[in-house]
Amino acid sequence: MNIYGQTMQKLRDYFISFGENPAKAKIVFKALYEDKISSFLAIDKLSMPIKTKLSVDFSFALPELLAQTDSEDTSKFLFRLSDGCTVETVLMRHDYGNGVCVSTQVGCNMDCVFCESGKLKKVRNLESCEMVGQLLYIKEVLRLPVSHVVLMGIGEPFDNYDAVMDFVDIITEQPGLGIAARHVTISTCGITPKLLQYAERASLNSLAISLHAPNDALRSKLMPINRRYPISGLVEAARRYTQNSNKKVTFAYIMLKGINDSVDCAAELAELLSGLTCYVNLIPYNKTRSGQFEPSDKTQIAAFFDVLKQRGINVTVRREFGSDMNAACGQLSSDYKNNGEQAL
Ligand code: SAH
Repeated sequence: MNIYGQTMQKLRDYFISFGENPAKAKIVFKALYEDKISSFLAIDKLSMPIKTKLSVDFSFALPELLAQTDSEDTSKFLFRLSDGCTVETVLMRHDYGNGVCVSTQVGCNMDCVFCESGKLKKVRNLESCEMVGQLLYIKEVLRLPVSHVVLMGIGEPFDNYDAVMDFVDIITEQPGLGIAARHVTISTCGITPKLLQYAERASLNSLAISLHAPNDALRSKLMPINRRYPISGLVEAARRYTQNSNKKVTFAYIMLKGINDSVDCAAELAELLSGLTCYVNLIPYNKTRSGQFEPSDKTQIAAFFDVLKQRGINVTVRREFGSDMNAACGQLSSDYKNNGEQAL
């Protein structure tokens, strides 16, 4: 087992399983994430037999960095996992701190028509240690401070629910990596039953729902998941989240020229979301290699924005990150397949 995949609860259960005091889990967390030890032998507060047992039972393996591309505000990392699969992670430099965009699966099965990441079918789910590994590598090996984490890399977080929940618990644990729960954003295409399950958790993170259309007819064309979980149920699940968390939910809306960017769509969206405590985040479409879409004109984005604003919806336009180096949302991972040797 990999130690970076253990939640505090799992480590407590581990100690209990051989009759030890579960409070030792806290000592291990502090040693791992605050003192940054890379051998259990370095934990002074544990006895030799326990250090030896931990060393036998757990590894410290991190993903291996294969390639890194940097631009002014963004760095993209390509990691190799223990079975040879690769994943991409992006570091975004904001004025309020660094954010890491983590991948949750190798490939993705959601098949959203505008998304490059979804062109690679899902190979497998990432384990929690592989998600923690993406963050730890950037934070501890490259020594770049990280305050925010978004689950907006490759994959659908709610299609890998248990491992993603473990990941979130591990990185927000105290003592630990020092990431605040509200600084972790889970982004989902809308797997409604999982969202309902998530909304009942004791500690809730920030939530983004990739909506991209104001009605089922259009959304089902853009996002096949909508055929299974239509908009009305999704919005109700979002409402439940807002009630239980006392937080606003963010609806991401990619602006696709001539497809979903009319002022009529904006009015329909405002109607759909009226009464919900939410933000709408308008996202300029990043043109992908196989892109059959065009980004909306700035004037159209402004007109769409104004309609939402006038109707009382909180709306922002997302700053684009990394579009100059194919590190933007929906553009991850296919690069390496296409130019594998160069990436090394
Ligand atoms: N599966 C999750 C998280 C990964 S995608 C989800 O659907 O939310 C992260 C965000 O990038 C989503 O909002 C997704 O719709 C968006 N996205 C995908 N392709 C894009 C593109 N070409 N341009 C802009 N945003 C894109």
